[in-house]
Amino acid sequence: MSSIVAIVGRPNVGKSTFFNRLIQRRDAIVDSVSGVTRDRNYGKSEWNGREFSVIDTGGYIKGSDDVFEGEIRRQVSLAIEEADVVIFVVDVEEGITPMDAEVARLLRKETKPVFVAVNKVDSANRMDDTFEFYNLGLGEIFPIAGMSGSGTGDLLDEVVKALPEEEVRETEEEELPRFCVVGRPNAGKSSFINALIGEDRYIVTDIAGTTRDAIDTRFTQFGFDFNLVDTAGIRRKSKVKEDLEFYSVMRSVRAIEHSDVCILMVDATRGFEGQDQNIFWLAEKNRKGVVILVNKWDLVEKDTMTTKQFEDRIRQEIAPFTDVPIVFTSTVTKQRLLKALETAVEVYENRKARISTSKFNEAMLPIVEHTPPPAIKGKYIKIKYCMQLPTATPQFVFFANLPQYIKDPYKRYIENKLREMYNFSGVPIDIYFRQK
Ligand code: GDP
Ligand code: GDP
Repeated sequence: MSSIVAIVGRPNVGKSTFFNRLIQRRDAIVDSVSGVTRDRNYGKSEWNGREFSVIDTGGYIKGSDDVFEGEIRRQVSLAIEEADVVIFVVDVEEGITPMDAEVARLLRKETKPVFVAVNKVDSANRMDDTFEFYNLGLGEIFPIAGMSGSGTGDLLDEVVKALPEEEVRETEEEELPRFCVVGRPNAGKSSFINALIGEDRYIVTDIAGTTRDAIDTRFTQFGFDFNLVDTAGIRRKSKVKEDLEFYSVMRSVRAIEHSDVCILMVDATRGFEGQDQNIFWLAEKNRKGVVILVNKWDLVEKDTMTTKQFEDRIRQEIAPFTDVPIVFTSTVTKQRLLKALETAVEVYENRKARISTSKFNEAMLPIVEHTPPPAIKGKYIKIKYCMQLPTATPQFVFFANLPQYIKDPYKRYIENKLREMYNFSGVPIDIYFRQK
């Protein structure tokens, strides 16, 4: 699980410019290929060998200062709650505005590490204007220019030093699958968890993590044995009204990163919406297993809406990663709640599956020989050998004479074949082509 860095600040100070500089470019390329609009406000970054997640909290709130003052206050509260480190961006051109002062006041009350990034310091003669920001009372300030990247290295040096130690799992615990239940507010997450574990102390053991970290609840009943991640956080009704997409996404990040399989709960009466898609994508991006539960199925008029129709719609929304189990549940009638858990266990096993190199070649080589990658510029591309990599999540490499000419449609073709032959339901997989 990686640590979480949140970027806060009022609109137009340059948060998204800075965020885009931090996250890996790769994302943008992947997304342009799949043609799907993705959440642009969450990404992975790495500095001095330390990986962390970055959230641009401002990306969810666009607009002028006055309209959104209340929202920014909430944004800051939640960032403080969910992130390990906060970067507070201010604008040297504007100086300290009343809203900056308000954000600073909220941040001063907390013990989380906060770094003040004074942005738009494009030239040396702007340095003098940065000193004013010491008045925010948040300690050292870091002059940066998000646009050119100047000063960001010094800032990141300090940010990664402030991140908590990487968590080391205890060996025994490590073997237990970790599931989380995520979804938009009111989808039925707490009802689901309560239906499973209730308040029965006999089956519930709380293993307290560090103060703000995810809390695991071990579930051992009906032949299951796994940890439910962050159930306390999900049960806890937030003090802020969670009407914005930002909140459910932000609440999900830590739980998702901490899990092996994410149980994404969707409200059948609302359908699969943007927020659901963003949470799904968080799981996919983190290479976690996914099970989709369409909950409140008891409320749906079965004449007008069939499971098949519902499934098709969801698969359209989650394309191209559509090989995901979908289970129709009701926490009220208790319909398929155990089926949901069984499916999560299955996805967990699929994600751990390892295929021997000889068997894999036996299965795949006839396919790539029969349908090779299309020739380019009169050059024939030949795949000679393939294998699964010894990685935590399924990754496959295909060795070819001219791997650089193999395009995405062929990669998708290979992935489809692979999914036809093996059970990777609910599991994101990676395929690489390399020079032999
Ligand atoms: P956000 O609303 O806080 O996410 O701000 P944006 O990243 O959208 O930036 C707001 C404006 O500030 C845009 O016009 C950016 O081009 C500009 N900007 C961002 N970083 C810098 C910088 O380092 N120097 C200057 N001069 N302008 C910047
Ligand atoms: P959460 O915010 O995702 O934890 O959602 P809750 O578990 O608090 O549920 C929100 C509301 O939906 C509550 O009023 C529940 O009683 C109701 N609810 C949850 N699951 C179901 C279900 O399967 N069927 C019906 N009819 N209502 C449900």
